[in-house]
Parts: sequence; C-alpha cells; structure tokens
Amino acid sequence: SSFIGTGLNSELISNVKKKLGIEKPTNIQQKAIPILLNSINDDADVFIQAETGSGKTLAYLFPIVQRLMFAEQQNTQDTTRNSSFSRNIGTLVIILTPTRELAKQILLVINSLINIPSSKLSTLHLTHWIVPGSIIGGEKKQSEKARLRKGINILVSTPGRLLDHLQTTKSFIVKHLRWLVLDEADRLLELGFEEKLQSILKILDEKSNDDDIQNQLPFTSSSLPRRRQTILCSATLKNNVKNLAGYALDSPIFIGE
Ligand code: AMP
Repeated sequence: SSFIGTGLNSELISNVKKKLGIEKPTNIQQKAIPILLNSINDDADVFIQAETGSGKTLAYLFPIVQRLMFAEQQNTQDTTRNSSFSRNIGTLVIILTPTRELAKQILLVINSLINIPSSKLSTLHLTHWIVPGSIIGGEKKQSEKARLRKGINILVSTPGRLLDHLQTTKSFIVKHLRWLVLDEADRLLELGFEEKLQSILKILDEKSNDDDIQNQLPFTSSSLPRRRQTILCSATLKNNVKNLAGYALDSPIFIGE
C-alpha cells in the first residue's frame, strides 16, 4: 500500500517522505485520509479511535493541510495570499491537546508538512500563506495576543490557554473556523479538562455562525468544509469519552484501526 491511492497530493506525499521518512500509510491513515479529504459525507464529524503511535496525527493533518492548499482564493487576480490574507482570515483550524509537549510535537509536524517550495506547487495550490502556531502558555500573554492578532491559521493549543484567549483576546478571529480537533480526548478528560472543553465548544458555537459563514469566507469553490468539522481522537471508548463525543460531535462517522 502507498499514499497514492488515498487521494493525497503528490507533492505533499513526497514532502513527507523527504522530511519524515514516511512512505506507507498506517491502517488508521488508510481509513481516515480518504474520508477526511472528501466531502461526500457533507463533512460529518469524525471519531477516530487510535492508540498513540498509530499515526493518528498525520491521519487528520494530511487531509486538513491538503484542503487548505486547495482552497481557491476569491480574487483570482491576486494569488499572493500574503500576510494580511493570513491575518484577515484568522484561525481556520484549532487542534486541542492535553499537554504542551504534544502540542509542540504536532506543530513540528505541521511545519514540515507545509514547508514546500512554491516552485514545486501550482500557483493555485500554495502553502506559503498558512501560518501555524501554538499557544500553550509558558510565554507572556501579551506576546501570545500579538501572535494571535497577526493571525494563526492552524492553531495548536491546550484547553486552559485557549479558553483564556477566546474569552479575552478580541483580535483572535475564529468566525471562519473549519476544523476543531480534540486530540487524545481520553487524556484531556483524565486531566480534568471537561469543563474547559464545554466552555470552549460553547464559545466557538457562538462565534462562528455556520449559516452565514460560507458567504464570508474569502474563498470560492471551496475545498473547505461548509460547516465546522469536529474530529475527536481517543485511544479508548470509555464512557466519559462517549459522553464527550455525545455533545461535541454531530452524528459522527466512526473510524477504528
Ligand atoms: P502518532 O500516532 O500520530 O503519535 O504517530 C506516532 C509516530 O509514528 C510518529 O513518530 C510518526 O512520525 C510516525 N508515523 C506516522 N505515520 C507513519 C507512517 N505512515 N509510517 C511510519 N511512521 C509513521
């Protein structure tokens, strides 16, 4: 098996091979990538049951990065997608993790995924405009605010810090949010983050009104989901995780190894 049949872009595949030495999809990647790349299910929410070490991170990152690459800009005269574009569009993806360490690792993977020279890509499928970043505490809140103001398109964060900024940072734009990933949801619950997760979900629902979002997105014929897609990853199917899935996900597709 190879990544070719999964529907992934060949430059993304060769980039991952070069940077991470990864050539063949794992089981969970083989199952999840085609589903997450495709909007045939109208981008239903997804529950991924997968152990740490199964390759779940790339199972969701690959499709998200590709769909961001393929999102066509409204004004096709201007293919620059410069820093003001990244800032205006705000945060398109939030990945929530239980620990700072995991957040840092995921950010590293995102950086290596999107770092493809423009010369290798069609002018429509660029990655250079995508600004990834993590907000995990351990730095001054003012400097986190400043980075959010400049626009972090793919944000990796921990629950406490994310909630804090959602409540207090006005220039943190989430109205175009397309994906929310709850990574290692079982550990998020073990570490006592359930209430914070509930508050985060409530704020995100309030701040992004899916009904009028499609008109506001600065993309045409969008490869992006028409509504926010939530992806929950968990190693276990314990009751507390099922309970979380019950209110965080809307009629999810289940993907197991
Ligand atoms: P994860 O389950 O996402 O935490 O990934 C665990 C480890 O497996 C990471 O070090 C990845 O770089 C590695 N990995 C992910 N996908 C693959 C793959 N398709 N082939 C080999 N290693 C992989």
